[in-house]
Amino acid sequence: MEGALIARDRVGVQDFVLLDSHTSETSFLNNLRKRYQENLIYTYIGTLLVSVNPYKELDIYTVTQMQLYRGVNFFELPPHLYAIADNAYRVMCSEYNNHFILISGESGAGKTEASKKILQYYAVTCPTTEQLQIVRDRLLLSNPVLEAFGNAKTLRNDNSSRFGKYMDIQFDFKGAPVGGHILSYLIEKSRVVHQNHGERNFHIFYQLLEGGDKDLLCWLGLERNPQKYAYLIQGRCAKVFSINDKNDWKIVRKAFSIIDFTEKDLEHLFGIVASVLHLGNIQFEEDSNGHAIIRNGTQIKWISKLLGVHLSILQEALTHRKIEARSEEVLSPLNVDLAFYARDAVAKAIYGRTFTWLVNKINGSLANKDSTRKTVIGLLDIYGFEVLDTNSFEQFCINYCNEKLQQLLIEMTLKAEQEEYELEGIEWEPIPYFNNKIICDLVEQKHKGIISILDEECLRPGEATDLSFLEKLEEKVGDHAHFVTRKLADQKTRKSIDWVDFRLLHYAGEVTYCALNKLFSMSSQVATQFKNSLMSLIEILMSKEPSYVRCIKPNENKEPGKFDDFLIRHQVKYLGLMEHLRVRRAGFAYRRKYELFLQRYKSLCPATWPHWHGPAAEGVERLIKHLGYKPEEYKLGRTKIFIRFPKTLFATEDAFEI
Ligand code: ATP
Ligand code: MG
Repeated sequence: MEGALIARDRVGVQDFVLLDSHTSETSFLNNLRKRYQENLIYTYIGTLLVSVNPYKELDIYTVTQMQLYRGVNFFELPPHLYAIADNAYRVMCSEYNNHFILISGESGAGKTEASKKILQYYAVTCPTTEQLQIVRDRLLLSNPVLEAFGNAKTLRNDNSSRFGKYMDIQFDFKGAPVGGHILSYLIEKSRVVHQNHGERNFHIFYQLLEGGDKDLLCWLGLERNPQKYAYLIQGRCAKVFSINDKNDWKIVRKAFSIIDFTEKDLEHLFGIVASVLHLGNIQFEEDSNGHAIIRNGTQIKWISKLLGVHLSILQEALTHRKIEARSEEVLSPLNVDLAFYARDAVAKAIYGRTFTWLVNKINGSLANKDSTRKTVIGLLDIYGFEVLDTNSFEQFCINYCNEKLQQLLIEMTLKAEQEEYELEGIEWEPIPYFNNKIICDLVEQKHKGIISILDEECLRPGEATDLSFLEKLEEKVGDHAHFVTRKLADQKTRKSIDWVDFRLLHYAGEVTYCALNKLFSMSSQVATQFKNSLMSLIEILMSKEPSYVRCIKPNENKEPGKFDDFLIRHQVKYLGLMEHLRVRRAGFAYRRKYELFLQRYKSLCPATWPHWHGPAAEGVERLIKHLGYKPEEYKLGRTKIFIRFPKTLFATEDAFEI
């Protein structure tokens, strides 16, 4: 227990379960703040790890630190990601079962850094052979490649992941990492063609221009200056102080060679990246009939060369659309506005598919072909709950994903808790908690859920509009407690709402979604696909043992040491931390295997010190009798002692000092 508990006042408690005052948000925050100010960024709630982004390099990720945590019991050292990683690993090895570590939190909270640190921990501490070194390197180097294509500078984070990621690390029976597999979720394609002020496109574009050698750029028909490319300058910040694109390019190039991309693969890949840039520079003008024609042939020629697609096919694709008339396909010319729209749609589609190809390719190189049974630890680094000024379809999907994961946490925490009590033969009273299943249902239920309604609307092409979608929503889910449209806004939340919007009362707060931006009416397939991929993710997770890391962003300015109470309080609320704490405390705040409990406290009782030769359970009974535990303070299970109140444990800890 983090040295003597005497130091508790200065550094707070390392496990919120041990907070001796009531479980108020204020005392929770005080504890978090105290610790943060001492650079103690990690705190437990039982076995869940809360992490606050330090925004500065801390000396706690060294190889020495890794070795310190290796094979050591969870509560014996200060809270750390390594303890979570090690615990999952050790249980996996001893019980031969599968695990996952779910890392969540809002943009900039430190999820990706945490998942990389866990991966590094396994890379350094797990046994390996010379043969397996390559697997280890590939696992590690898949990160820079995916980040180059899937991360971007946003206002909140200079290296923001714009996709969700689940990565399985596979271990053989000796506990050596022997392979991996990555699933990616909903890459933010809209960024390819549009960035808000202060944001960039995906890193790879800038890396290629800054770092690519002269011959390569020449072959791709590119100039080095990003200012030349319409898709790169909308955010007006092509150059970012904290990012070294040139250096990152070198890392990515090296990673590619280790992950086994051939020169041919890379030629195709960079050809596609360059084509997207050329596409963005295509301009259209009107011919005498008001139809769009391409203004200058240079870019399209480059694209044709790089993608290996015939010039006329490309031209047609950008200036015409196919419509079906009497089972025949007819080409209909586009006007200039629609041609720009088609151009952007092509760019997004190409990029999206390339990203999927990239993930598949990496998976090919991480795949372990031998068929012996393996166990896995899955790392889930997924976008947090998001509320922007204008929230559209992408936020809808992200927030729905967070509802699902919250559901999972609730189910698994309560389930695990209940199962443990049952297993140990302990009676307990369940505590009331908000079950967000009702919101998940609102989104995903068959026939009555928002996604189903969206699907239905999309089956009426030409007739359905965003407005008719809104009307359907109102008709079908209007009276749902977590759904608000303009008709109901004032009476439900006392806040008015625009007639083009609808609002969901998520577990983490209210979000108003803008339905009238054509996004909703065009997103049917995507929404359903996303729903299905989430369902299978949940299935994957449900079959594994969970560990949780909840990341908190301390301030909006990426500033070290600044603890913004308001911002953090909000995150504590929507990450469900208070609820989690209540669940942990409602039953028994603390539990420990008899052997471990005895080992730690045996010196406090003459009957058990220095050696106890009988069964550990009996030893513990003698020990607590000697310490004067009252019957209501504890219960003895089959293999563990359960202690109801933290203060009991404090008193025992303090007994060391006497
Ligand atoms: P997003 O949802 O936007 O992808 P994220 O939660 O993945 O955000 P990260 O990219 O992991 O956020 O972290 C943002 C930045 O915060 C990092 O680039 C790094 O500068 C800093 N940071 C995060 N965790 C740590 C840490 N443990 N130590 C030092 N700095 C950190
Ligand atoms: Mg990230």
